[in-house]
Amino acid sequence: MTANVDLHCHSTVSDGWLTPSEVVRRAAMNGVTLLALTDHDEVSGIDEARRTADELGLDFVAGVEISVSLFGETIHVVGLGIDHHHGPLLEGLGAVRSGRGERAERMDAELAAIGIHGTLAGARRLAGNPALVSRAHFARHLVSIGLMPDVNTVFRYYLAKGKPGFVQHEWATLEEAVGWILGAGGIAVLAHPARYRLSGLQMDALLDRFIACGGEGIEVVSGAHTPADMQKFASVARSRGLLASRASDFHGENESPVDLGRCNPLPADLIPVWSRLI
Ligand code: AMP
Ligand code: MN
Ligand code: MN
Ligand code: MN
Repeated sequence: MTANVDLHCHSTVSDGWLTPSEVVRRAAMNGVTLLALTDHDEVSGIDEARRTADELGLDFVAGVEISVSLFGETIHVVGLGIDHHHGPLLEGLGAVRSGRGERAERMDAELAAIGIHGTLAGARRLAGNPALVSRAHFARHLVSIGLMPDVNTVFRYYLAKGKPGFVQHEWATLEEAVGWILGAGGIAVLAHPARYRLSGLQMDALLDRFIACGGEGIEVVSGAHTPADMQKFASVARSRGLLASRASDFHGENESPVDLGRCNPLPADLIPVWSRLI
């Protein structure tokens, strides 16, 4: 059997459309042989996902995607192979999640100020986990009321940085997030690096700091990457000696460009991060 590895996806525990168990079933249907569930700032879906993976004979890795603030941007760090019961990790994630409620209220107020009312109530209705209201839930609400045709367009007009519904928020520091992952016995992987709006110097500084505090991996193949992004970050993995990850970042059928397990293969010369997970 050829390996089909997917080390980044979301369930209803954060902003995915499928329950943890449904995510694993879909992955199995798509031929995934090794899966990590990596919900935003939350690990409460791991036990359910692992039970389903065990039933289906799929290899499963406990994961998380932690929100970090750096250079005024939000950076995502994926932790793989974590002990999802580790106290300091759980405390850290709890602290990151606790900022979301107040942020959501500020987003609601900003949108109300431009005449779009009731967005937090709408977002809450769509969120599977009340502690994890994400911009994705606001976006889905605005699509559901017919204001915008799709989630991507909502982000472009309302929710991306600089748009009226965007509020600046301080997540974890890079060092905190990597520290929680390492403390829980995991490997820290920089998620979808092409997504960040950073200058070349800032990207170099991000990589310097990430590696200095113990980060070891980078998503080279990501559902959020173009083929050119993939080539660029394959070079980064080579020059920085980073382990390479393959990651759909699947959220749901109608929202994600790449389905579970349907990413391109990693360039053959890179060292896959899963060589350290199995
Ligand atoms: P948050 O963690 O609340 O800031 O929400 C971030 C989430 O919003 C990401 O994990 C994606 O699921 C979603 N997202 C961000 N940008 C876009 C976009 N341009 N189009 C669609 N979804 C997006
Ligand atoms: Mn998301
Ligand atoms: Mn992300
Ligand atoms: Mn993600």
